[in-house]
Amino acid sequence: MIKQVELTLLPKQAFDKELIKKIASSLSKVNSEEIKAVVPVRRSIDARGSKPRFKLLVNVFVNESPEPKEKIIYRHVDNNKKVIIVGAGPGGLFAALKLIQLGFKPVIFERGKDVQSRRRDLRDIQQNSIVNPDSNYCFGEGGAGTYSDGKLYTRSTKRGNVKNILNLFVQHGADEDILIDAHPHIGSNKLPKVVQAIRETILQYGGEIHF
Ligand SMILES: Cc1cc2nc3c(=O)[nH]c(=O)nc-3n(C[C@H](O)[C@H](O)[C@H](O)COP(=O)(O)OP(=O)(O)OC[C@H]3O[C@@H](n4cnc5c(N)ncnc54)[C@H](O)[C@@H]3O)c2cc1C
Repeated sequence: MIKQVELTLLPKQAFDKELIKKIASSLSKVNSEEIKAVVPVRRSIDARGSKPRFKLLVNVFVNESPEPKEKIIYRHVDNNKKVIIVGAGPGGLFAALKLIQLGFKPVIFERGKDVQSRRRDLRDIQQNSIVNPDSNYCFGEGGAGTYSDGKLYTRSTKRGNVKNILNLFVQHGADEDILIDAHPHIGSNKLPKVVQAIRETILQYGGEIHF
């Protein structure tokens, strides 16, 4: 059986797994020996009062264990039919991953540089006012927002189910927190590495990327 309860926690309590289990046990009225796992579903911060509080929605697994997390399966497409993609922004990279899942070989042509080399061109913009027209804040592997903080939320009410996308980011190195945070973001320090990991998946399964 799975019971769902919402905990209200002080910031210093919000990551204390033992305490969370204890409170979840009390709220769900289940003995802690019967609880096999307490799995966070959603976490948000209520900062309206003088003392900010975390709201944590959790699933309490009573006498049963959670299913293992599903991994996205890719297949080798080295010799399969080619599909040309122009641009290695989010649109191009996600199209490539989807094509691999469907059994096509993506071949990406990107006008800019790979995500790490791009960093040097950004430094040139900041320090020397030199703009490389092919490799800058907008152009290059990862696309326009790569050197921002990677916000993953929107005010749109037509957001749909984005769980698969969030799982894909986690599979490529993003923090698991993005799966439960109400306002998830990958972080500017991690985003280029996630982009690089996505490229490595594309290459590993037989896709091509030409810079
Ligand atoms: C500063 C900034 C911060 C942002 N922050 C966020 C955020 O936090 N969260 C969020 O969700 N969105 C953010 N965005 C928006 C997000 O970056 C865009 O929605 C997204 O990049 C669009 O993806 P795309 O693949 O359609 O296009 P682009 O990202 O523009 O990718 C196009 C790619 O094609 C390449 N290209 C262009 N012309 C050619 C050509 N002729 N031949 C070959 N390649 C070519 C480019 O180099 C680029 O890599 C931000 C955008 C900016 C500018």
